[in-house]
Amino acid sequence: MEPAGALPRSCSPAPEAAEPPGSPALPAEERPPAAAAREARHRGPGPQGPAGRGARGGGRRAPGRRGGEPGGRARRPRVTVDSSKAKTSLEALKISLRQLRWKEFPFGRRLPCDIYWHGVSFHDNDIFSGQVNKFPGMTEMVRKITLSRAVRTMQYLFPLEYNFYPRSWILPDESSFFEKEIRMMKDRDPSWKPTFIVKPDGGCQGDGIYLIKDPSDIRLTGGLQSRPAVVQEYICKPLLVDKLKFDIRLYVLLKSLEPLEIYIAKDGLSRFCTEPYQEPTLKNLHQVFMHLTNYSLNIHSGNFIHSDNVNTGSKRTFSSILCRLSSKGVDVKKVWSDIISLVIKTIIALTPELKVYYQSDIPAGKPGPTCFQILGFDILLMKNLKPMLLEVNANPSMRIEHEQELSPGVFENVPSPVDEEVKVAVIRDTLRLVDPQKQKKKDIQSQTLEHVSDAKEELLDAGPPDRLEHDANKNTEAGLPSLCLKQVFPKYAKQFNYLRLVDRVAALFIRFLGVKGTTKLGPTGFRTFIRNCKLSNSNFSMASVDILYIDITRRWNSMGIDHKESGMCWQAFVEAFFCLAQKKYKSLPLHEQVASLIDFCEYHLAVLDEKRLVCGRGIVERRNALVTCQTDGLQLIPAAHTSLLNRMATASKLADYRNHQY
Ligand code: ADP
Repeated sequence: MEPAGALPRSCSPAPEAAEPPGSPALPAEERPPAAAAREARHRGPGPQGPAGRGARGGGRRAPGRRGGEPGGRARRPRVTVDSSKAKTSLEALKISLRQLRWKEFPFGRRLPCDIYWHGVSFHDNDIFSGQVNKFPGMTEMVRKITLSRAVRTMQYLFPLEYNFYPRSWILPDESSFFEKEIRMMKDRDPSWKPTFIVKPDGGCQGDGIYLIKDPSDIRLTGGLQSRPAVVQEYICKPLLVDKLKFDIRLYVLLKSLEPLEIYIAKDGLSRFCTEPYQEPTLKNLHQVFMHLTNYSLNIHSGNFIHSDNVNTGSKRTFSSILCRLSSKGVDVKKVWSDIISLVIKTIIALTPELKVYYQSDIPAGKPGPTCFQILGFDILLMKNLKPMLLEVNANPSMRIEHEQELSPGVFENVPSPVDEEVKVAVIRDTLRLVDPQKQKKKDIQSQTLEHVSDAKEELLDAGPPDRLEHDANKNTEAGLPSLCLKQVFPKYAKQFNYLRLVDRVAALFIRFLGVKGTTKLGPTGFRTFIRNCKLSNSNFSMASVDILYIDITRRWNSMGIDHKESGMCWQAFVEAFFCLAQKKYKSLPLHEQVASLIDFCEYHLAVLDEKRLVCGRGIVERRNALVTCQTDGLQLIPAAHTSLLNRMATASKLADYRNHQY
């Protein structure tokens, strides 16, 4: 048995083993994350004593100790964190805060805090400043049906790039389509004996999940209508370790939506089944301990092994699995690279709708916090080592203890070293990355550097920004292990940016939503979109536009998605947009049709903005005299109110489009 700290470099999920295909090599990792995290836990925060299990619970300071840097360094205000809503992540959060020497407010605070740590969702209370560890709408966004829809949109556009998600159907809306499709495929290939997994929407911990061999086996009792579900092709040939099926829980930090910033934790958890795996047959379909890897289910199996060692037992670190695979000659760098691609592509699929939710909760101009979020990605490795996405959790469990039955009916919470090793590092390093003081320092540095650059441009070429940043990190983070979170976006943006088409469609949707705080587009908003983007003509009259709007909106609203607001929801707009793209650019593949229509719309909107600008300038010049401007019912916006950035963006969009066209 090898301690995790002694993992060979080749099998630790270190950055050098984690490049998307074709990427340049990453800088060498300083040391394995598992060892570093363990050291930090035992070393603790210096004068405050060990930050490990012994130091948990109270958040009390050692007598006589004050906030500030040890060793006589200048004291700086400590980052304040409201942990009153942290729920089950509280223990891991407390340890992280002690390691960082940040100030915890376990019962909340009357003054604003720098960071609010929520255990469940963004809407735990009203916050107008600082940072919250949840995005509005994320919980809705990663529900099984919404995730399947978002990935499916990307599968339409980029089928090869999005083949990491099992083929899925949404029940009950697509029941008959599911039956028909499977019947057709079986007729075509009678030897095909598929298995499907039915998962209730919004379920978790394996709740209500079952396997079927035929669409007719779907259980309609229990009200499918009242509890919609996703039915998915079952992955029959997973990679086995010790003859057991397992999945991977990876922690991903969405640090920012705009600009997109994604980090992946270098280590995760592997959760094991507790019965040896056999490919599904009618006889074993019901054996959940064989087919479902959920910890919450398998813990009830007599075969569940609690282990203090990260390399053994029913829950292990992912790095220990990679180590095993590496010793068998598996190319673990390739496995990591595929996982990174899967994560980036999944987030690219989620961001458009997330932006719609975001603007509805925190409309531009309204005071609100900034958001970040730790997501739990559940991934299954197939026998051929291809990673497949099972689901994304908006609230991955951050518990570092588990319940143990001491004697019949008597339970006690006992520490789980594997969970603690991975989860404390993820929370602590998330906090380090969103540290508001570091952010302030960065802003000051970049301002200083802008100053310097005006005077002495050659200084920048010598590279002082990196050195300054490095020194700042060294001062504030002395004694902490290197970050366990690795940036993958924008780092690999070049390789993935071409997939971000739907983000641009979301920008159009949001622009025409009109009333702040809504998520649905009214008929007038849709007409304005068509008119402003010059999409109607003799072949496509405004009457046809209305029919398109009514048809698509009615269908989506009848699916029981959200009846709170009337109007066209985001998915309906995407369908309408694809439909318009197919109409306008008949001979191209879908992603090119969509890209061309986006370019076309952006061009016309840029022209319009330019016109508004000119009219606005006219207004200013004529000292608020009324100006009539032939821009089909547009508001006139004085140039003074249009930011320079906007004007530059408009100009560059026009230039881009013209270059593209001619
Ligand atoms: P839940 O949110 O209830 O945990 P999941 O989608 O994670 O739902 O599914 C539960 C478990 O079922 C997974 O951990 C995995 O072991 C198994 N599973 C889910 N989808 C598939 C699939 N398509 N193929 C094979 N196994 C699957």
